[in-house]
Amino acid sequence: MPEGHSVHRIANLLRELFLDHEVSASSPQGRFREGAALVSGSTILGIEAIGKQLFIQWEKERWLRVHLGIYGAWDIATRDSLRGLSGVSSRRSLGAPRVRKMGKHDAPREALEVFPPEPVGQVRLRLQTDDALADLRGPTVCEVLSPDEVDSVRARLGPDPVYDKGTKGADVFASRVGKTTRPIGIVLMDQSVVSGIGNVYRAELLFRHRMDPFRRAHTLDRSEIDALWRDWSALLADGIATGVMMTRNDLTKSQRVVALENTQERYFVYRRHGQPCRVCGTPIVMAEMAARKLYLCPNCQKSTGSVS
Ligand SMILES: [Zn+2]
Repeated sequence: MPEGHSVHRIANLLRELFLDHEVSASSPQGRFREGAALVSGSTILGIEAIGKQLFIQWEKERWLRVHLGIYGAWDIATRDSLRGLSGVSSRRSLGAPRVRKMGKHDAPREALEVFPPEPVGQVRLRLQTDDALADLRGPTVCEVLSPDEVDSVRARLGPDPVYDKGTKGADVFASRVGKTTRPIGIVLMDQSVVSGIGNVYRAELLFRHRMDPFRRAHTLDRSEIDALWRDWSALLADGIATGVMMTRNDLTKSQRVVALENTQERYFVYRRHGQPCRVCGTPIVMAEMAARKLYLCPNCQKSTGSVS
């Protein structure tokens, strides 16, 4: 499941290639033929990521909403190069999106002289101009919406620090966190409270704040909630810039370069169960929370303030 930074990176790349262009849309696989026909040939006026969802605004008040889910991925190509951006594997990309040939991995470079390349596999949606194309495979959601329908989807989404700039996002986040007695570890992954946080960022954010994931959300005070929001904003911005969920803040410059390449060095707690905490040496623990694996240091994240 891609976390928020990958969807923002996809949005940035799609914006670069398709914004203000007349774009043809088709469904080589056939499952989205009618939806594609509704927007095909009109101009794209806006492309936004909010959390894990992508919204593409077309002329004639039509919007396309895409949620990649677990298996969804975009392959994006231009006449000059073919660039792949997969939500699932984008954690391996560094800086610029990783270069990937369409189709077979050993396809000769010369194959790119044919543009556009033939669709490979189950392409739900193909967006295309004279110079660029984007193929979408395996999304959980790919649908055309009216402006009212977009508004109602957005109203259900928690704030995203990139989209909800200024204090508005922080205020909405604080208000929704303060209203629930559920554990903060669950609340951070609830996309109606805050957008874009998945399992990696959840575990790492809580460690960075030495916070017990089982602490009830309503017991957090405003300064603690604001600190989480600010930190999420900073981590997300960094993830968008690098393409990597880099959450350690205890590294020298050269250590950070190593960690950007190596997932073993990148996190405080995520998937480090049994290994010593980088701060106190206590073995990191794995627990279950709402059917998702949760990682924490039982010493650094001792339960405090959990009694209301
Ligand atoms: Zn520790």
